[in-house]
Amino acid sequence: METMYQFSRSIRRGKHYDLIVVGGGPSGCAAAIRAARAGKRVLLVEATGALGGMGTNGLVSNWYSLSDGEQILPRGFFWELLLKLADLGALPPGVDPRDLDWQRKLHTGTGFNPELLKMLLDDLCLSAGVEVRFSTRLVDVEIEGKRISGVVTHDVEGFVFRPCLAAIDATGDAVLAHMSGVPCREAGRDTEHIMPPTLCASLVDIDFTRFNRREYEKILQQAVADNEFTQPDRHVPGIFRTGANTAIQNAGHIFGMNALSAKSLSNGYILGRKFVGEYLNFANRRIPGCENSVLVSTATLMGIRESRCIQGVYELSYEDFVNRRQFDDQIGVYNKAVDIHVYDTSDEQWERYLGEYESQDKMGAGEYYGLPYRMLITNCIDNLWVVGRCASSDVKVNGSVRDQPACYVMGEAAGLAASIALDSDTSADSIDVSDLRKELRDGGSFIPES
Ligand SMILES: Cc1cc2nc3c(=O)[nH]c(=O)nc-3n(C[C@H](O)[C@H](O)[C@H](O)COP(=O)(O)OP(=O)(O)OC[C@H]3O[C@@H](n4cnc5c(N)ncnc54)[C@H](O)[C@@H]3O)c2cc1C
Repeated sequence: METMYQFSRSIRRGKHYDLIVVGGGPSGCAAAIRAARAGKRVLLVEATGALGGMGTNGLVSNWYSLSDGEQILPRGFFWELLLKLADLGALPPGVDPRDLDWQRKLHTGTGFNPELLKMLLDDLCLSAGVEVRFSTRLVDVEIEGKRISGVVTHDVEGFVFRPCLAAIDATGDAVLAHMSGVPCREAGRDTEHIMPPTLCASLVDIDFTRFNRREYEKILQQAVADNEFTQPDRHVPGIFRTGANTAIQNAGHIFGMNALSAKSLSNGYILGRKFVGEYLNFANRRIPGCENSVLVSTATLMGIRESRCIQGVYELSYEDFVNRRQFDDQIGVYNKAVDIHVYDTSDEQWERYLGEYESQDKMGAGEYYGLPYRMLITNCIDNLWVVGRCASSDVKVNGSVRDQPACYVMGEAAGLAASIALDSDTSADSIDVSDLRKELRDGGSFIPES
């Protein structure tokens, strides 16, 4: 039985901010930078030592499904980032986002250099005037009525109470929203399954003149049938190019891991690193082009696909996805197929996955679904926005909308919405959404009318 310990201390009171953004992943960076550019005093709190979230520390250094075959869908801040990465030489050879053919390739995408993205996000935060605190974790929140009046963080100097006028939860796990009493769906508690995470890794010395992804998949299926792996997992996304001879490896589901349990997460890292070695060894032995590839690093952030999602004012649903629904209050659109990974190693799960991902769900040319503003706000707290993977969405559609490009779009909208709410001294659900949409469009976002 769990016993309780009463914890009571006087802690330092920190500086006052207009907006505190918790979590420096794709959605948090976009939110913080956009709000600071709109003149707000912004603090960005990040638990690790670098920005970019899953895209950098998680080594998920790959963006996919950027175009509907006619145009790039995630524009605005995301487009600015992509062009800057291209100018820094951070995209693989042959990828040029300015090339119209690339822009019009349905579901086009690219890998990127995660270290250069970390540096670029540092620069963009600095130049926008965002104050960033690394190695700083949100540990508590102070609520007055229906408003967050400040958050408690912990860093090398100890606990600090940080007062603020508004807050954005970009933690991926809805940590701030959950602490604030916002109802959330938790994977494993409120659902039958938890989508398994993967610990990704970065590799170097791959000969891409001889590497072929389809070939990798074929050889992998044979190796699974030959019992070469600890677990007979037929669903292995594999190797994705990030540079001239570099790649990330996304291989090895950690079935049963619960990202909301410290013990389960810790055991998951150990198993994840073991899988990294196993799949690299397989690639070295069997995959043309990977014979000499070397492990550079395993991810410092577990690749969590599913944990917590808030129940917001509107829950984006799979039905919305299927109907390519457009909303009056949409702040962007997206078109990635629903990507619900296998829940176990059975053939039924593998067939279920292929059926969903490869066929019925894939959007065709000119198709996309809308991201409504209401999925980012809650009825419980007036000055809170929740963005990225933990925004309000059902299990299935979360398998699409959690992707980084959509997270950047949600973050940008929330950063600007918070700024509008602060300027007009109103709550998240009372801002004039047409003002928000106009400002987003002025910043280059693609927001078709519903
Ligand atoms: C294995 C895997 C493969 C994927 N493949 C792709 C892909 O190919 N393409 C794609 O676009 N997307 C992919 N995704 C999805 C995508 O990477 C994530 O869903 C996305 O990064 C979520 O963005 P986010 O902003 O919500 O949060 P995250 O990227 O998860 O960032 C959250 C940040 O919050 C910080 N944080 C958390 N708690 C606290 C706290 N208490 N205090 C302070 N900071 C905190 C974390 O350190 C982290 O930096 C993949 C995901 C996984 C796991």
